Amino acid sequence: MKSREALSKITRGVAKFQAEVYPAQRKLFEALKYRQEPIAMFFTCADSRILPNVLLQTGAGEIFTERTPGNIVPKYSDHVGGVTASVEYAMMVLRVSLIIVCGHTDCGVVKVLAEPEQANGMPALQNWIRHSFGSRERLLREHPEVYGEEKLQFLTEYNVLTQLENLKTHPAVASRLLSGELEIRGWIYDIGDGSVREADPESGRFEMLNGLVK
Ligand SMILES: [Zn+2]
Repeated sequence: MKSREALSKITRGVAKFQAEVYPAQRKLFEALKYRQEPIAMFFTCADSRILPNVLLQTGAGEIFTERTPGNIVPKYSDHVGGVTASVEYAMMVLRVSLIIVCGHTDCGVVKVLAEPEQANGMPALQNWIRHSFGSRERLLREHPEVYGEEKLQFLTEYNVLTQLENLKTHPAVASRLLSGELEIRGWIYDIGDGSVREADPESGRFEMLNGLVK
């Protein structure tokens, strides 16, 4: 789609929001004018197919969302930037009691993790995926023989688990975990069938959250 068509579609969308959605929820938007009290931080990939508020069936003010390529959360010491600032804000100011790191099927970043040469000519992406090298190392250690879809599935899981560990290196997260004020969960959203699998906090094994969508 050319930029003019894209802009036109998006502008019509804003007009529809202003004409239909906003008036229907005017009280809510007005109440949110100066404050937010989200119930959770949702950390997911920048992929256009993930619609957090549609998937979670939440509305304005409910979910504090952070998105990065591959839902990667750099370790605190490795990369002080927007992600670190978001985590700090969610912990110290918004004081959310739940963080969900949500990976997904068919993730471009996971494919690059599987075959780093796909990122040739993209130095920023190559640099970024180093925050998930732990997942690659685990795959090579535990399943050196898998290829194709199976390899991507393991890497998708290990990537989420690696990011949960990376999150724990953030001081604000660690201290609130310690005091029992925070829970963190790892999910994988299946774009094709709508299912969500959750990592068991103890074993790290992914299990269906709500059963398959019919
Ligand atoms: Zn992705």
